[in-house]
Amino acid sequence: MATSQSTTHDYRCPECTGSLQSHHESLECVDCGYTPRHGSD
Ligand SMILES: [Zn+2]
Repeated sequence: MATSQSTTHDYRCPECTGSLQSHHESLECVDCGYTPRHGSD
């Protein structure tokens, strides 16, 4: 398990590297609408 060195509240979209914002307890990309799954991977 790797530890992120970035700020815990700054997520990046893997699809377009846009910003992910909290949306109804989930994260959603503000650019493409990408929503990562919940839980650990
Ligand atoms: Zn995106």
